[in-house]
Amino acid sequence: APVLVWFRDDHRLNDNPALSAAAASESQVLCFYVLDDAPEGLRPLGGAARWWLHGSLKALGDSLEHAGSSLLILKGSPSKVVEEIIRATGASAIYWNRRYGAAEIAVDSAIKARLTEGGIKAHSFNGRLLHEPWEITNQAGKPFQVFTPYLRAVNARPIKPPLPAPRRLKGGVWAPPILERAIPLTELGLEPSSPDWAGGMRQEWQRGEHAARSKLSRFIETGLKGYAERRDRPSQAGTSRLSPHLRFGEISPRQVWHSVMSAVDAEPGLERDAEKFLSEVAWRDFTHQLLHFYPHLPDRPHSSRFESFPWNEDRPALRAWRRGLTGYPIVDAGMRQLWQTGWMHNRVRMITASFLVKHLLTDWRQGEAWFWDTLVDADPANNAFSWQWIAGSGPDSAPFHRIFNPVTQGEKFDPEGEYIRTYVPELSRLPPALIHKPWEAAPGLLREAGVVLGDTYPEPIVPHGPARQRALEAFRSLRSPV
Ligand code: FAD
Repeated sequence: APVLVWFRDDHRLNDNPALSAAAASESQVLCFYVLDDAPEGLRPLGGAARWWLHGSLKALGDSLEHAGSSLLILKGSPSKVVEEIIRATGASAIYWNRRYGAAEIAVDSAIKARLTEGGIKAHSFNGRLLHEPWEITNQAGKPFQVFTPYLRAVNARPIKPPLPAPRRLKGGVWAPPILERAIPLTELGLEPSSPDWAGGMRQEWQRGEHAARSKLSRFIETGLKGYAERRDRPSQAGTSRLSPHLRFGEISPRQVWHSVMSAVDAEPGLERDAEKFLSEVAWRDFTHQLLHFYPHLPDRPHSSRFESFPWNEDRPALRAWRRGLTGYPIVDAGMRQLWQTGWMHNRVRMITASFLVKHLLTDWRQGEAWFWDTLVDADPANNAFSWQWIAGSGPDSAPFHRIFNPVTQGEKFDPEGEYIRTYVPELSRLPPALIHKPWEAAPGLLREAGVVLGDTYPEPIVPHGPARQRALEAFRSLRSPV
């Protein structure tokens, strides 16, 4: 009897424990993906992530064919689809890599229980994280709430070396009635057609495992040295941009970890940059373990103190933020980078998120939802955790009263204004000293630069000082923690 491999956000052949175990069974290996458009409690993907998924599945299908198998794509509720496939193929076992959200776990556990009852083996693996969430706990056996001791615990454990891709898969043949239910990728409607808003994303990204692996190699060769310094400069290619590849499992964090460690062994002097970079990769594990133990993270404040926060419902301000028209150049540049490319630099994610939550006093869930829809790397753990971190309501958060000043942040991290010139071209002729605060420019200078505030570029939608005061007062109105 054949065995099945169910792909879910692990779109690669290398270091894929479920695929390798299935291949080692010596049976025919049938691979499938289920697009769950009416998910059983799972959050539907946002637009940008759906666009990424299309390319990711295409690349995965091609690689599987090259290795002797193929990828069948089906639509529907996974519980039903998996049972239908088992019935139709007579498969003896199914293999998958684990997911860590509560709804995903509920779906997977129910499927596993039903299959086991019917004598079918369901094998699950860790293909997504450096360590399973339950492997890294404090001395009381509880999850860490603070990153630094968590990182220490991660660093104290060996990280499994990545598995090579199975050399050749014994592919099976899909037969009716399942074959008839297969849907060609192009008919899934994952990519936009009219309007086609994905042009900027196509220019920016190559999707799939090969692209992920070359990006990692390139980053190690040219970007790792100096990462610790350059990672905060949004105008530079100072970070790896691996996030969407990690999100869709086109590369695993173990592959990233071991490749970086090999580079450190080969080239002395990289230690500090590698340590900083790998600590970011460990943040990703940290947020996943928090999501695992605190599944409410995307939905409500982790600290109950924030439940009564007096949020402001200002629809026009929210719209201006989304469209990059707040009148604060660094905020607008970030929001436009996001809209055009499906990605935003981490420093600017922090500034734009802080601006929404604190200057506009908008519920962080509104921002989380917008990022969810527009980021190619939108991830339930990283996104929810980071928004709560900014809002001050999450575990190990920035304190609420730390309010970024968008002008000084811009001046500090984009001193020449290059990032602004790329994404807010209407300000490109302003000198670096004024590009982050065009309202301070003399009328003559604005005229020369072709800027008419309130016309070619907006005036700030809220003044920084009073907005800051308003945020601090709102925070003070919360009852103190008990
Ligand atoms: P690098 O600096 O090269 O880091 C390497 C990898 O480490 C990243 O690919 C990512 O997987 C991980 N990583 C880096 N920074 C963080 C971090 N702060 N928290 C968790 N993991 C991190 N990241 C997402 O992957 N998906 C999201 O939906 C997401 N939403 C965010 C929302 C807000 C408000 C903020 C402030 C941050 C968010 N991040 C998110 C974290 C971070 O901004 C991105 O992971 C990073 O910018 C990706 O770029 P990179 O791959 O070049 O990062």
